Amino acid sequence: MKKHNFYAGPSILSQYTIKNTADAVINFADMGLSLLEISHRSKEFQAVMDEAQQLVKELLEVPEGYSVLFLGGGASLQFCMIPFNLLKKKAAYLDTGTWAHNAIKEARIFGDVDVVGSSEADGYTYIPKFEVPDDVDYFHYTSNNTIYGTEMRYDPDVKVPMVADMSSDIFSRPVDVAKYDAIYAGAQKNLAPAGVTIIIVKDEALGHVDRVIPTMLDYRTHVKKGSMFNTPPVLPIFSALQTLRLYKEMGGVKVLEKLDLDKAGKLYEAIDSSRMFTGTVTNPADRSIMNVCFVMKPEYKELEPEFIKFAGERGIVGIKGHRSVGGFRASLYNALPMESVDALVEAMADFQKKH
Ligand code: PLP
Repeated sequence: MKKHNFYAGPSILSQYTIKNTADAVINFADMGLSLLEISHRSKEFQAVMDEAQQLVKELLEVPEGYSVLFLGGGASLQFCMIPFNLLKKKAAYLDTGTWAHNAIKEARIFGDVDVVGSSEADGYTYIPKFEVPDDVDYFHYTSNNTIYGTEMRYDPDVKVPMVADMSSDIFSRPVDVAKYDAIYAGAQKNLAPAGVTIIIVKDEALGHVDRVIPTMLDYRTHVKKGSMFNTPPVLPIFSALQTLRLYKEMGGVKVLEKLDLDKAGKLYEAIDSSRMFTGTVTNPADRSIMNVCFVMKPEYKELEPEFIKFAGERGIVGIKGHRSVGGFRASLYNALPMESVDALVEAMADFQKKH
């Protein structure tokens, strides 16, 4: 039976990406060799790296003066690389969830951190109001809070350069990259298998801190070497290229955004009009179109495990909410078809009829 894959990450990838990656694992670029057993310095792999960097620039309309890197270490490594490279004295951070919290913890190792807003006391169920002072080196925020289902689907207007963790919503909307000193995103949601992180960094923003930066943690090392200072994670980069090609062929991020909005709209409507389910994020402006979090109303609460089983029997997988939140989370990343949303909405309606 076909599965409807709602996992939050690693998560659904397009069949195009999976099939082409599987083929390249057997025979890469007609070399008669696997992608897994060739030099990353071969002209065939260099072409993969070059095209992947170029497509990121094209799809997100990255202006001149920025470099695109593909590094290992996950988005979590960026929590320390960002302040290591960019924090001179003080930075502003917005606390919107576990990942933002982790980023704040790392930044504190390097300087003063002004937490300009937090919704922690309310279980991170909304995007807090915030004001960013002018005297900070940068303002860091998490555009999509994967665990809590909140999202900032815009580039905030602040007077300082921004840094954003876009791990779980990159390529779901156009971004005004010129407002940022850096954007980073782990690949394992909207792009590729785990193992690579995209970093878009403004070249001019580098080299202004006094501290010594270990070679591998210095963005300049990777910028200078075209993201090939050391052996890059070749397989996820190859997969990323397949996804990026598909995104371009589909018409780019505006087209993806429309598809994502339609999917999320349909699911939120089903939740809001239900007598049994209710959304955990109540302000529509704060609702994520990537991760839709919902629970059963108090009078039905004990039915939650039964619904997961009921949906599972229809091939719906990955809807259990994060362990810190409970309930349900349906992740609607770019590769998820509308057909899967329809299957979930139908399962919700049929389950309600039963009870
Ligand atoms: N930031 C966000 C928004 C995430 O959703 C995640 C993982 O789910 C991370 C950071 C951590 O990413 P990684 O596991 O690649 O370090």
